[in-house]
Amino acid sequence: MSWPLNPPSDCSVAPGARWSALAERVLAGHRLTAAEGLAVVRAPDEELLELLAAAYRIRFHWFGNQVHLNFLINAKSGLCGEDCAYCSQSRVSRAEIRRYPILDPDEILAGAQAAAESGAATYCLVLSGRSPTDHDLELLERVVPCIKNRFPLKICTSLGLISLAQAERLKACGVDRVNHNLNTSRRFYPSICSTHTYQERLDTLRAVRAAGLEICSGGIVGMGEDDTDVVDLALQLAELQVEAIPINFLLPIPGTPLAGTSRLNPRYCLKVLALMRLANARAEIRIAAGRERHLGWLQPLGLYAANSIFVGGYLTTPGQPPEEDYRMIDQMGFQPVPPPPPGRQPIQIHPAPPVLKPGR
Ligand code: SF4
Repeated sequence: MSWPLNPPSDCSVAPGARWSALAERVLAGHRLTAAEGLAVVRAPDEELLELLAAAYRIRFHWFGNQVHLNFLINAKSGLCGEDCAYCSQSRVSRAEIRRYPILDPDEILAGAQAAAESGAATYCLVLSGRSPTDHDLELLERVVPCIKNRFPLKICTSLGLISLAQAERLKACGVDRVNHNLNTSRRFYPSICSTHTYQERLDTLRAVRAAGLEICSGGIVGMGEDDTDVVDLALQLAELQVEAIPINFLLPIPGTPLAGTSRLNPRYCLKVLALMRLANARAEIRIAAGRERHLGWLQPLGLYAANSIFVGGYLTTPGQPPEEDYRMIDQMGFQPVPPPPPGRQPIQIHPAPPVLKPGR
């Protein structure tokens, strides 16, 4: 069966059979086309369950029913000179967040302990700013080997734009993976940021790959982009063969230029997750910020397409309590990776450094 360019107009094949056939083709090595991607995000709501079933077929093939857990620490907050419109830490943001320079090694180690105690497999170290300073890198070179010695955690760093030499330093000190989100399409990128380019983001990802590190790169949905931008992002990530894809659903934080602009609904969010799975069959697809707010009651269904979540909150916004995540995963009949430690105590999510003044 060939894929019709405009699936809803083909009444001769039941929707379930069409989505199922597409999943089979993806499993056989087919690369999703732009037309197919658009058909996914524009699928009628009546086809949502069949679409999710198709995404789940691929997800189950590569990951079974496992859900990878990630724990994030905002190791340097705010004080950024860039102007990313969605970000509460940018120079144009007046959001009321904590702003602080890089945490000291003990605080980062304490975060690693909290990550391990929360049952996370990956500890994500996030620093605000355009690029890491030498001081940031030197501190990471000291603390990352300590973390790897003490805890069975994979380390992912998110440091902004980095060069090949900087990526090689991260690789040498034990970092496993680098996060740098493309966020949206090349076409839409200038609408959300003027202080750096999409090409600079791509160059960073190529440096990460050249250094032998895994790539974590995803996006934010709901910033005013159109469906073609979301599809372009999915296909660009497929071309880069990224290992992990965090999908954020915009939290329009008061004080940021995108405050009050959200127009997402949970069915659309699920279609985006299905798109990401169909375009990136083997990638760890993570439902990131906005999971609780935008998926709402449909949140568990996201796990039929995605196989990864954050536990314990996001950069500057809290998530649902980890206990609710574990209950959701358990009630779905899925298994967290790794399993939660028995008798786990409530965790301190973020160290509490002093609040600094906005801007710099
Ligand atoms: S570079 Fe990073 S920290 Fe700075 S404004 Fe953009 S997203 Fe926020």
